[in-house]
Amino acid sequence: MQDGAIFVDYQSRILVWSQTVEVMTGMSSGKVDGVKLTPSLLGLANEHGTKVPDEQSPIEACFETRTTQNGSYKLVGRSGREIKVEMTFAPVADASGTLHGAVVLVHDASVQLDLQRQLKDLYEFSMLDPLTQVANRAEFERVLDEFVRLRNSTDFECSLIICDIDFFKSINDNYNHHIGDQALVSFAGLLKKFVRQQDLVARYGGEEFVILCANCNADSAVQRAEEIRVTLTKTPQQMLDGKCITASFGVSELLPGDAGTDFFVRADTALLRAKELGRNRVVEANAATSGSAPVLTSAEKTSLSGARWRKLKGQILLSEEYKTATPLAVLVEKLRGYIIETEAEIRRVDSDFASLIVEVEDEKDYSKKGTFIVNVEFQELEDKDVSSIDRRTATFIRISIREGKKKWFATNTLELVPQIAKDLRTFLMLNDNSSKLKVDPQATKSTR
Ligand code: GH3
Ligand code: MG
Ligand code: MG
Repeated sequence: MQDGAIFVDYQSRILVWSQTVEVMTGMSSGKVDGVKLTPSLLGLANEHGTKVPDEQSPIEACFETRTTQNGSYKLVGRSGREIKVEMTFAPVADASGTLHGAVVLVHDASVQLDLQRQLKDLYEFSMLDPLTQVANRAEFERVLDEFVRLRNSTDFECSLIICDIDFFKSINDNYNHHIGDQALVSFAGLLKKFVRQQDLVARYGGEEFVILCANCNADSAVQRAEEIRVTLTKTPQQMLDGKCITASFGVSELLPGDAGTDFFVRADTALLRAKELGRNRVVEANAATSGSAPVLTSAEKTSLSGARWRKLKGQILLSEEYKTATPLAVLVEKLRGYIIETEAEIRRVDSDFASLIVEVEDEKDYSKKGTFIVNVEFQELEDKDVSSIDRRTATFIRISIREGKKKWFATNTLELVPQIAKDLRTFLMLNDNSSKLKVDPQATKSTR
């Protein structure tokens, strides 16, 4: 609705009563023409609904003080209908100071309230996971930051439970994706039953959920996770023909001085451990599990946003640097060959960086199988080691191998690392003569 306007003369008699004011008050201009404008005529009440007495008329105050009066009011119609309004009473005087009357502006504030409601809806929309109606990852990260701040400034205790449904992929495979979705909704519904007002349950991604438990130490969080776990194993899932599902849980407590990442990585490592130990269990992060967590440099920590957390899962098992005269374009082509040959999955690729997921098994010993994250970084540099006549560019290559996500089949994985490195070196023509940070003449020859 537009703003309404009323003009009055110096004795508060109504000269103009706009159409919008007619709608707001339910009184036609014909009825009020020349009538004295008073709070009772307008049905003016304060914000709490108490009538404004005629003796306290803001229009009179405006004339007496010759200043503009602003205020929030309600217009209460005869039928009892109330409209929230913002009103301005402005005196009108000429250059000589003679008062001619006043302008009264009536702004319908209920429109603004509607907008606020819409914004609130929008906010809720932006922080909720649409499928499961629990908080989404962005909201989790926001609350996590808040908890970390609280932990570092007060004696606030808090813990994190990360849970991941076991063998969820087989639900999608054996039923269908839609049934899988229903199972996610059911799982989220169960988690919601276990959280209190001040906690937060969020979907971190896929079939992985997190619970931030406020005022809760690790012992209590482990107990809660255990309750959830047991309840889940006893909850028949209708969409799965009454079968039950299980989940694995990692728990950590926020320690003073922790960054959110430390807290998260500890729980995530504990979750990984729960999977390794056979699933359907709760593992608490302790010195032993955090010891096996990746060691982050402070630079990594500060640049670490949510998206990178995954990337740093698993220790670096091998890291090697080479320098070769093979041009970058050729190396990239060779890397492509490696990807095709090993059926590696590309996680990320940039102009100078590739991150791959490689699944390997030892052909002679099938008990050796595992998933690895293989990162290959390239840097093309002018080589200062060679003589100026022979000046050419050299390419630095850094290969690093981390443990990938543990799959159920993973066994004796660490023994496979040297073989992965060897295969990759072969493809990139970094044979044994091409040692770290030495120009490799063999590689130069073979690039013809
Ligand atoms: P683990 O016990 O090791 O956790 O095995 P898993 O099968 O649960 O884990 P994995 O990460 O191998 O598979 C997760 C699957 O979840 C893969 C993906 O297709 C499925 N998924 C992720 N998001 C959704 C979703 O929104 N809906 C459905 N139906 N499936 C999803
Ligand atoms: Mg899972
Ligand atoms: Mg998962």
